[in-house]
Amino acid sequence: MTVEKKVLLHVCCANCATACIEMLQSTNYEVALFFTNSNIDTDEEFKKRLKDTRHLARHIGLVLYEDLYKHGIWLQAVEGLEDEPEKGKRCRKCFEFNLMRVAEKAGELGFPSFTTTLTVSPHKTSKVIFEIGQYLKGFLPVDFKKQNGFRRSLELSKQHDFYRQNYCGCEFSREKK
Ligand code: SF4
Repeated sequence: MTVEKKVLLHVCCANCATACIEMLQSTNYEVALFFTNSNIDTDEEFKKRLKDTRHLARHIGLVLYEDLYKHGIWLQAVEGLEDEPEKGKRCRKCFEFNLMRVAEKAGELGFPSFTTTLTVSPHKTSKVIFEIGQYLKGFLPVDFKKQNGFRRSLELSKQHDFYRQNYCGCEFSREKK
């Protein structure tokens, strides 16, 4: 395995990660996971998503790095954007927040590249994620929606019987439901 084929994958939740890991491994990437999601509204919800991510990492045999939960700092980052609709300015800021943290962690751990499961969701615009990523060292622009990635994530997460949340993550996305 060449060093260049190592990638740190930001995991938003285990459901989304399933198909992304499969896709990266099918192109011979050596994958490690990073759970950093301070956008999630409560500690309880953060732990629920982390629990399934731990299960997935163990099941596939991947290293999982876990970040601290710092929702207060995330709230400061999106201050003034609370009423924005999903896919609006708050989400762009949220992507920026998480991607910058993943870039920092990838650098710290010596990964030559990193990417994110966020692009698998039909609720996220991959183009916006790539616009942010292009300024971050090591960002690998993978559109996991392609090749029916989202459908595959549904199939795989059902097989694992993972908890499936009905909102994106922050309190503002929960309120809109
Ligand atoms: S809706 Fe999702 S992507 Fe948008 S700000 Fe909230 S947690 Fe982040």
